Amino acid sequence: AKRSGGGRTRFCDDALRTGLASRSAVERGLARAIEEDHLVLYVQHIVDARTEELAAFEALVRWIDPGRGLVPPDEFIPVAEASDLIVALDRWVLRNAVDNLARWSAEHPASAVPLSVNVSGRHLAHPQLVEHVLEPLRRHGVDPRRLTVEVTETALLDDLASAATHLSALREVGVRIAIDDFGTGYTSLAHLRALPVDILKIDRSFVANLRHDDERTLIRMIVELGHLFGLEVVAEGVETATDARELLLLGVDALQGFHFSRPHPIADVGGSETRVVAQ
Ligand code: C2E
Ligand code: CA
Ligand code: CA
Ligand code: CA
Repeated sequence: AKRSGGGRTRFCDDALRTGLASRSAVERGLARAIEEDHLVLYVQHIVDARTEELAAFEALVRWIDPGRGLVPPDEFIPVAEASDLIVALDRWVLRNAVDNLARWSAEHPASAVPLSVNVSGRHLAHPQLVEHVLEPLRRHGVDPRRLTVEVTETALLDDLASAATHLSALREVGVRIAIDDFGTGYTSLAHLRALPVDILKIDRSFVANLRHDDERTLIRMIVELGHLFGLEVVAEGVETATDARELLLLGVDALQGFHFSRPHPIADVGGSETRVVAQ
């Protein structure tokens, strides 16, 4: 928000006051929203780079605030991540994601499309993380192979020991693991070798700069690295047909972005759409 007038001190005081006020207001509002189900799950398509057919969905949460309408995650996830609220939020998302997987199977026994959910760093390190992921799957009898957990590079490296333990336990029963926003952090070759990972998601910032040789080289390196370790490589933020073509040529396996689909309510997904069998 833009501010005008006032001296430097007053500016700082104001910023601090409104900052604190809005942070705790967001915390209170969000806690209520989780309790009262004022959240809604959206999904975005992830397509096969070659055929451009649906390969998976990513679940993305939205907050429906009675006063403000649809609030995007960038405005409340960082606040939630500063406290255990993020654990409650992630669990809400997991429950709803798995509910929908179960609904799709009920509508279509051949339903097999996988669904990705984002898990935050604090939750990844939580002693109950594995239980939080597996409990909804068990309750609905959903095949764990249909669920992918996305964790960012920074979340992984924050508490590498518990991340590795928790992700191994999930992967052992078939949950797939994706490293999100890959390329922005400091994952080393040693980490990639040691961590139980299936998918690398190339950060949107690389795709946004595809016209630059440097970015193309980086993407090519990430693809080669990923394939060397037997991983699937996904590019995010694909906004044009040109991006899609270029990324296919660079060897990327799957694509996600506004060019293929805008995030839309998961409740609208159903029917034959969910029968896709991922490669
Ligand atoms: P992310 O996990 O990297 O998700 C991808 C974001 O990129 C989404 O923003 C999506 O709408 C946006 N996006 C997709 N395609 C394009 C494109 O072609 N161009 C551009 N410019 N953007 C595109 P969204 O939904 O606003 O989510 C933002 C971030 O909030 C996510 O980044 C993720 O870190 C976090 N988040 C969203 N949902 C959840 C959730 O359920 N749990 C947790 N823990 N975090 C979430
Ligand atoms: Ca993600
Ligand atoms: Ca991402
Ligand atoms: Ca992100």
